[in-house]
Amino acid sequence: MSLDDDPLVRRMRPFGTTVFAEMSALAVRTGAINLGQGFPDTDGPVEMLDAAVDALRGGRNQYPPGPGIPELRAAIAGHQRRFWRLAYDPDGEVLVTAGATEAITASILALCEAGDEVVCFEPYYDSYAASIALAGAVRRPVTLRPHRGGYGFDPDELRLAFGPRTRLLLLNSPHNPTGKVFDRDELGLVASLCAEHNVVAVCDEVYEHLVFDGEHIPLAGLPGMRERTLQISSAGKTFSCTGWKVGWVCGPVPLISAVLRVKQFLTFVNAGPFQPAVALALGLPDAYYDGLRGQLGGKRDRLCAGLAQAGFDPLRPWGTYFVTADIRPLGGVDGMEFCQSLPFRCGVVAVPTQVFYDDVDAGRHLIRFAFCKRDGVLDEAIARLATLAVTGN
Ligand SMILES: *Cc1c(COP(=O)(O)O)cnc(C)c1O
Repeated sequence: MSLDDDPLVRRMRPFGTTVFAEMSALAVRTGAINLGQGFPDTDGPVEMLDAAVDALRGGRNQYPPGPGIPELRAAIAGHQRRFWRLAYDPDGEVLVTAGATEAITASILALCEAGDEVVCFEPYYDSYAASIALAGAVRRPVTLRPHRGGYGFDPDELRLAFGPRTRLLLLNSPHNPTGKVFDRDELGLVASLCAEHNVVAVCDEVYEHLVFDGEHIPLAGLPGMRERTLQISSAGKTFSCTGWKVGWVCGPVPLISAVLRVKQFLTFVNAGPFQPAVALALGLPDAYYDGLRGQLGGKRDRLCAGLAQAGFDPLRPWGTYFVTADIRPLGGVDGMEFCQSLPFRCGVVAVPTQVFYDDVDAGRHLIRFAFCKRDGVLDEAIARLATLAVTGN
């Protein structure tokens, strides 16, 4: 290799700077309101913040145990039982990770041989494609398309995606960026295909507590699925602390042992003083979880109404932090161009979702807005977006 060549391994070259970084930089440069990146602009529960301070001051600053501190593993198991009626043994069936991201990456690296196939729904969360590529595995996308005001998929397309090389099914519900919450029938089909093809399901459920319509149904709870499912979540979205990177994965002992083998050489451990704080937060009363859902649901309604008024065609999400919108009623054709010009036209940043599809045309006219922001910020963004319809600029 000469030094003039790109030193990056070939399998990572398709993955440039993330669109979030590009659009956030654009927001800073133009002083626009950033509804691109999905992080809250307020802090999580004060009891949790106090517990982290106590841990920092109380000498809990060294390596925690590899699988996570016992009190956090017990709290995670308790949470799974309390909300989803799923029983996991805190010793062996629960693993603490550096966010959900590490849990997903370690699961893929632990379970996929080079050339194995991973079925996933597109548009997908951006780390999925990169993690699959790192493992030398191959993604088999199934496209979610606008359907009855939300998103749906073609059952035959899903059936055809499974084959002899399929090793994993990667499912994100509630789904980022579409806000889709998979229903029982859809999950039933997914489960039966996993069983038929002897496939392990990796479920990213970081928005488990942000469902406004319908209900969150963990795939692991469907008949026969617990033994072949890794259930992943994290504190970031549920407790508004995305920078803490405390995540976890629950599953049967053989699968968790495999993931731990890889995870120990990625980060070994992380977030020592934040682990006891998240343990405390998981035990907060129902009022906390209901309050979070109520607040975010109100923001969802607020932004959807504002987008419709501004002339977009918003696809009302059932869950998550996000709403996607069709730009065609405003004369938009390409979401990437639309998002690059939006800060200059009206001072708001959104992200195009086409970058999360292999089938770029399926998402060309769709863009994503985050509504996990203070109401005043949302109102200002809505007022700015309203000028698009009025002036047509
Ligand atoms: C935010 C997000 C993650 C990342 O979670 P971390 O705990 O911050 O690693 C994973 N999956 C989806 C769908 C997300 O939106």
